[in-house]
Amino acid sequence: MSAAKPSLSRQQLITELLTQGVRVVNPSGQHVSRQGGAGPSDHQAMTLDGVTVMVPIYTQSAHHSAYEIEHDGSRTQLLKNAIPVRDITVAHKPRFYDLHTAEGIPYSQIATLHGTDVLATTVLQTCIRYENRAKACQFCAIGQSLAAGRTIARKTPQQLAEVAKAAVELDGVKHMVMTTGTPSGSDRGARIMVESAEAIKAAVSLPLQGQCEPPGDPLWFQRMKDAGIDALGMHLEAVTPEVRARIMPGKAQVSLEYYLEAFADAVAVFGRGQVSTYILAGLGDTPEAILSLSETLIKLGVYPFVVPFVPISGTPLAHHPAPDAAFMSRILQPLGAMLGEAQLRSSDIKAGCGRCGACSSLSSFEKAVA
Ligand code: SF4
Repeated sequence: MSAAKPSLSRQQLITELLTQGVRVVNPSGQHVSRQGGAGPSDHQAMTLDGVTVMVPIYTQSAHHSAYEIEHDGSRTQLLKNAIPVRDITVAHKPRFYDLHTAEGIPYSQIATLHGTDVLATTVLQTCIRYENRAKACQFCAIGQSLAAGRTIARKTPQQLAEVAKAAVELDGVKHMVMTTGTPSGSDRGARIMVESAEAIKAAVSLPLQGQCEPPGDPLWFQRMKDAGIDALGMHLEAVTPEVRARIMPGKAQVSLEYYLEAFADAVAVFGRGQVSTYILAGLGDTPEAILSLSETLIKLGVYPFVVPFVPISGTPLAHHPAPDAAFMSRILQPLGAMLGEAQLRSSDIKAGCGRCGACSSLSSFEKAVA
């Protein structure tokens, strides 16, 4: 059986996959997927039409998705309502996963492969906000992979450097994302980024994105840059006060105004387009609210990386519906045009989620402007 001639556009197909997820009919045993943790969880990386996407496979909606993937010998097909729509490839286990440190810690517990060429780690797997469920971000699964023994609580700079070097040499990773749970100090995670980046850059040439909350002292932006952080993410997640307070009661105490000031300070250090924020669509913010704030962010030189919310098993929002593809298109279509106008492009970001883009179809909506 051959894949039918594509009738769904790539943009439409990726948007539907990211929002609905996919059922895996007969796992090959080779593919690399992950459950729990920060960032994209319950996902499988797959490449179709030359684009890599992180598609939910373990979520509730994935079990009822119209999409399924089927392995047949060396071939993998994507089917919609049992009709083949594309040949795809799924990301395979990277070679660095077979290694472990001298103390016996598997490299896969220190950093993981996202997409096909991004190394990702949560440097500190605990968070001041997560420990208290009344303050925790409702979508977050940062403690799950730790509780399940799939990661370690604190990755040392030396461990990160060792794994980054191996991932570059053995698997050709192109950039690295370092996120962190928020520690109690006023640096809000910036200090951890500095220490980690210094060690990684001393070991290997690899573009780095750091992710943390806005630090109390803007001097941290220059310290992170000097340490080797090439791009910075400070993630709003939600944009309207009511949604922020409901979805992330602890983090919402840091006001939107404070974030905007921090974004301006960070762009002055990292440069236009090298600062980004993650916005989860589908949690209650209207498309108009997301687009309005995005316009402000773009004027500041910040790339608003809008991704569909994916409900993660075991979190308070496990049964919250994901947005549908039409909802995402109402945001991504105009946002892509705005980014094109402003000449802020994912491909110009040196490292991180905006450059990787596998959690959203946003980059396929970016319009080239001469
Ligand atoms: S967009 Fe970010 S979180 Fe998503 S797969 Fe890429 S690096 Fe990971």
